[in-house]
Order: sequence, then structure tokens, then C-alpha cells
Amino acid sequence: MGITAVDGFGGNLLESGDDGYDGARSIFNAMIDRRPALIAQCESAADVRAALAHASANGLEVAIRGGGHSVAGASAIDGGIVIDMRRMNAVEVDPAAKTATVSGGATWSDFDRATQEHGLATTGGRVSSTGVAGLTLGGGSGWLEREWGLACDNLIEVELVTADGRTVTASENENSELFWALHGGSGNFGVATRLVFRLHSLPAATLALLLWPSDAAPELARTYRALMEAGAPTQLGGGVAYLTGPPEPFVPDHLQGERATGVIGVYAGTEAELREAMAPIYALDPPGGLTAEMPYADIQCAIDDPPGFRNYWSASHLASLSDDVIDLFCSQGEEMIVPSPSQHLLIPWGAAVAEQATDWPMTHRGATWVTHPFGLWDDAGDDERGKAWVRRSVAEMKPHDIGSVYLNFVADAAEDQVRASYGEENYGRLAAVKSEYDPDNVFHRHHAITPMAPA
Ligand SMILES: Cc1cc2nc3c(=O)[nH]c(=O)nc-3n(C[C@H](O)[C@H](O)[C@H](O)COP(=O)(O)OP(=O)(O)OC[C@H]3O[C@@H](n4cnc5c(N)ncnc54)[C@H](O)[C@@H]3O)c2cc1C
Repeated sequence: MGITAVDGFGGNLLESGDDGYDGARSIFNAMIDRRPALIAQCESAADVRAALAHASANGLEVAIRGGGHSVAGASAIDGGIVIDMRRMNAVEVDPAAKTATVSGGATWSDFDRATQEHGLATTGGRVSSTGVAGLTLGGGSGWLEREWGLACDNLIEVELVTADGRTVTASENENSELFWALHGGSGNFGVATRLVFRLHSLPAATLALLLWPSDAAPELARTYRALMEAGAPTQLGGGVAYLTGPPEPFVPDHLQGERATGVIGVYAGTEAELREAMAPIYALDPPGGLTAEMPYADIQCAIDDPPGFRNYWSASHLASLSDDVIDLFCSQGEEMIVPSPSQHLLIPWGAAVAEQATDWPMTHRGATWVTHPFGLWDDAGDDERGKAWVRRSVAEMKPHDIGSVYLNFVADAAEDQVRASYGEENYGRLAAVKSEYDPDNVFHRHHAITPMAPA
């Protein structure tokens, strides 16, 4: 055991040399290898307060860690203190009120397994291992967002511990400006110890993963565009993906380990409804794939990426999807590293993502399509190649994008990209909230918003 004592801390402390230190400091992106002075594995809001007080008294930089999926490594730090929330993963469901109350370190797997028991769900991410708080406070894009909005659109209340140890509740009626900022402003204002979500009835859910050789992609993407733009039901989410054909029984031998194109369909409803909604895609006669009604929590982990890979990714938010843009997307998919767990995704937006009564901080909700080059590889010798593919893909889309991007999808956002993502007006409003709740900029590692200078 390490030697550091933290007043009032009831959780577990880890320092270099302790059993479990190396496992606890590692994050999803294997390219990031940092050695914190202290990992404070919190078990309560009181532990979070004690760890923050210790950081302040000892001049330690602070990183908040939930699911560890920040590709930029916001939750890993050299020398400072990691406020590790993973032990705080409780989820309580109130089926009558259709709400879920979640502790600040829960993952979407914790969340979806608990809500599914009651036939309820909300928008989560596209994999099950991301943290609920990290994904939601940054926005939260997921399969069923066209029906239910982003994850943050389903937030009812957030309890935060601020840098100076206050406990603050934010909701529509209480600290409403902070509540506004938590719809995309991420971990800039404090440590979320409790989040309350609105849930939706989900009596049935269906997954389709249909596969073709990659040379089918240009026609597939055009058919998919026509389907989604002709008013596909909002219950239908998904996208077109370049991927490596997985070694699964539903994948024919000639696609396994090879560059392939998939159409993913996730439907808030039955298999018959999904098949009807995606009829033009089935008409293209996929040589591989599966279609099955299954528990939502199983859908949510169906394409979980393995940890331990090196990661670099970004995204482009598009106003429209012309033939030229489809061809660009396809040429980029042909250059993705294969075989690897990488994906190049084309995701339909709009519907409930765009139709929000409140003007939340993120300015890219008006995008109709998103391209998302998602690079994962295991050989450090591929680092430059993998990064170059992502950077080139985004640069090529630049003439077609709307100038702002969803920051949770970006590996290394510079300050001007953060500002552009929120827009100058919203950035100013976020900076004012930051000045009120974190004037000393203790939480500065993720989509950093600089507090406004005192008047
Ligand atoms: C494989 C993979 C798939 C992904 N898929 C999606 C997707 O489908 N949709 C999507 O929207 N995003 C997706 N993401 C991005 C993801 O939303 C962000 O990386 C998010 O920040 C991850 O949160 P985390 O808790 O897992 O990460 P961490 O690395 O643990 O945390 C990142 C940051 O989030 C903030 N944070 C985390 N917990 C708290 C808390 N309790 N209180 C305050 N701040 C907190 C902090 O600033 C923290 O530094 C994916 C990432 C990966 C690696």
C-alpha cells in the first residue's frame, strides 16, 4: 500500500508500486500511458470531496475518470490525482416514474441491464463500456437518438461536487444555467456523482447487421441515403460502416478478415417492423449478416470494441449528403487499416437530435449526416498511418462540413475547435457558468472551457 493519507477518504487509494495501480491507470486507448501520483477510487460523494480537497491542498492536477473511453486521454494524467468513479456504479430504476438514477461511475452496460428489466431504455452510446456521465455530459450520440434525442436530452437532474467541495444540484428549476451547460459542456464544472434520466418504453428492440464486400458501398450508401431521407421511421437508427468482416458464423468465409461494408439497423420495435423499414436495403441481397429481435442491452454491446488497441478518431458533421460526399466517404473507407477493429461510419442525424425546444450548447445539431473515421490498430508502427487516415478523412470532408463537431468524437480538439463546436455565443455562456462553478479551472482536461476573466 502507498503511504499517502487523504483526510476523510473512505475509498481505495493507489500509488505507483501498489497492486492494481497499473490496471487502474490504464484506459481504453492503449496509445496513452500515464502515471498519476494518486488514484482515488471513490465510493461516495464524500470521497470525491475529500479527494478534491487533497488535490487542492497539495497542488495536484485533477483528472476525472469514468468509463476510461476518452480517446484524448482526459481521464489519464501524469503526476496528478485521478478521481476514479468506477466504484460508484449503482443504477436505480423507478418504473412508475420512468426514471433512472445513476451514480457517476456507471457504464452504459450497468444502465441498460438495469432499465431493461422494466422494459425501459434511453439513448446511450453505441457500445456498452463507455461511462454514462462522460458520454452524456458531452452530449451522447447513440443508435436511438433519432427517436429519443441525444443522451443529454434525457437528463432530468445532475448532482455535482464542485472543485471547492460544494454539492450542487442542477435541473430545469434549480441552477438552470448549470443544467444548460451540462448538455454538452462535459466535465468542466465538477464531478457528477448522481444523474437522473428520463426513460422510454421499449417492449421490443431489433438489430440488423448486414454485410457486403466493400465494393458494394457506393450503391449501398446511396440506397441508405434515399431510405433515410424519404422519411424512414424515427424508431430506425444505425448507419453504413466500413469494417473488417468479423470471424462470426453469420459472416461468409470470403468476408471474414476482409474489408467489408455493413448496414447497421437498430429499431425500437419488432423484427417485422425493422424489415419493413429497411426493405430497400434487404432488396440488395446481403451475402452475410444477421437480423434478430433481442434485448436492448445485448444490442448495445453487439459491436463492443476490444480494449487494448491504439486509438485515434474524429468526425465531420455534414449539412447534406451529395453523391460526391458519398464517393469521398467510400474512398476513405477503402484506405482504412484492415484487418483491424477500425470502422468508418456514416450516421444519419436529424429527427429528435435536431428537434429540441431548448437551444443546448452544441451547435452541430442541425447536421443531417455524420461521418466518423474511427481508427483502432494494435501495432505502434501503424500510429502515423492510422492518424494520417483520420486526419485526411476529416480534411477532405472540410468543404462539406458545417464547421463544428461533436467533441466526444474527437481525439485532439484544439481551443479553436472547442469554440467552433459550441459557437462564440454559447462558448461565452459556458465560460460564464465555468466562472461561477470552477473559477480556478481545476477541471480543464476535457473540451476545456476557459473561465471568463473577472470583470
Ligand atoms: C469504443 C468507444 C465508443 C464510443 N462510442 C460513442 C458513442 O457511440 N457515442 C458517443 O457519444 N460517444 C462515444 N464515445 C466517446 C465517449 O462518449 C467519450 O469518450 C466520453 O468522454 C467517454 O466517457 P467515459 O466516462 O467512458 O470516459 P473517461 O475517459 O473516463 O472520461 C472522460 C471525461 O469525461 C468526463 N467525465 C467522466 N465521468 C464524469 C463524471 N462522473 N463527472 C464529470 N465528468 C465526468 C471527464 O471530463 C473525464 O475526464 C466512444 C468512445 C469509445 C472509446
